[in-house]
Amino acid sequence: MASTEPAATHRLSRRPLVARVDTAALAHNLALARQAAPGVRLLAVVKANAYGHGLARAARALRGADGFAVLSLDEAALLRAEGYTHPIVLLEGFFHPDELPEIARLRLRPVIHRADQAEILTRARLPHRVDVFVKLNTGMNRLGLPPKRLTETLTLLRACGHVGAITLMTHFAAADETGDGVERQLERFHAATDGLDLPTSLANSAALLRHPAAHGDWARPGIMLYGASPFAGEDGESLGLLPTMTLESRLIATQFTRKGEGVGYGPAFVAERDIQVGVVACGYADGYPRHAGTGTPILVDGRLTRTLGRVSMDMLAVDLSPIPNAHVGSPVTLWGAGLPVERVAAAAGTIAYELLTALAPRVPVEET
Ligand SMILES: *Cc1c(COP(=O)(O)O)cnc(C)c1O
Repeated sequence: MASTEPAATHRLSRRPLVARVDTAALAHNLALARQAAPGVRLLAVVKANAYGHGLARAARALRGADGFAVLSLDEAALLRAEGYTHPIVLLEGFFHPDELPEIARLRLRPVIHRADQAEILTRARLPHRVDVFVKLNTGMNRLGLPPKRLTETLTLLRACGHVGAITLMTHFAAADETGDGVERQLERFHAATDGLDLPTSLANSAALLRHPAAHGDWARPGIMLYGASPFAGEDGESLGLLPTMTLESRLIATQFTRKGEGVGYGPAFVAERDIQVGVVACGYADGYPRHAGTGTPILVDGRLTRTLGRVSMDMLAVDLSPIPNAHVGSPVTLWGAGLPVERVAAAAGTIAYELLTALAPRVPVEET
């Protein structure tokens, strides 16, 4: 299969920042999803450039899945061009009727989440039958038919000659929370669908890991495949997941900074004593979160330390006090192996999903 990602080895620049994607770890995490949901078919969610890992690369590592789930027709077309014959689900269906012929031609499975989409689909003239996922709103209140419209929508879809297999789908708003979790939504789903004898697609990573009653026939794991935990305050490692993206760089300068002096832009950090500061080639234009304030965990020479001051566009500063031997060229891990991305995300007031998907195109990716 042809790779669509540029080869990182042909760069001119030797800027030391690189994202290493561990394809064996992706495969390991998929295997763990299988163990957690035996007998359930897995749609590997590879939207958002496979959560920042590179769609073609991640698909190769996850080809043991039973299907893929993507956002856009372009992503699906790329997977077909790479030769995958798996079922491919379009998570938000079609955005415009013009997409339907290509959806049919590529044998994609659009999600039908509004009643008018069912009408548009049944009126379209298509070269093939189209299998669909019909999505119910059971409490997320984002996408999905109201349960009371399900029967008429199914009747409409079945009456037209070109709708094939139908899978019923819903999405949980709080599968990652303790407390109610998925129960209320699951009850509504069953109330609307029991007796229909159609396959179901319910679980995201959190439901797959915590709510066996909500597995359904086709689970849709995303974040767990990328080694991160969907649960706040718990990292992927404790769930048996392996980190799949390690963002690495090096020190490109050190500065002996006197007590009372600042570091970087603004007064965000002022040295309380004389301090050795390291400057790392990584900034917010690379996808590192600008909201990560002083104290965000970071590894230098494999040792845990903290960031200092504001993250700049291309650089950030670190406290070298715990690593007196660090020097220009010392390796830095921003997140990944040895430093869960969830911890960096928490320090920046966000979630691992955002950091992974925000990896900037300018960061070269190397496969390990
Ligand atoms: C993104 C997405 C998923 C994957 O969710 P994770 O929390 O990453 O496992 C599953 N289902 C739908 C509808 C999604 O949009």
